[in-house]
Amino acid sequence: MSNATTVYQLCTGCALAVAYGDMSGLNTENTAEVVDFMADHGLLVPATDDVHGRWLCECCGLGQLDPARTFTTTAA
Ligand SMILES: [Zn+2]
Repeated sequence: MSNATTVYQLCTGCALAVAYGDMSGLNTENTAEVVDFMADHGLLVPATDDVHGRWLCECCGLGQLDPARTFTTTAA
């Protein structure tokens, strides 16, 4: 364990909501999951890690194919 920072991979809609408080991009079916995630984690800040290929959004749980937007709990 070299670093305790947790990085989350979020889809675009969740990224806007969790990092900037903009809920307008959310799929209404997943709003509850996103609100729960935000309640648990608070606002996140962008991280620099890039993730490609298939991955699951850790906020709404939907499968994604686009490059991930990664976020962390605190600025490094
Ligand atoms: Zn998502």
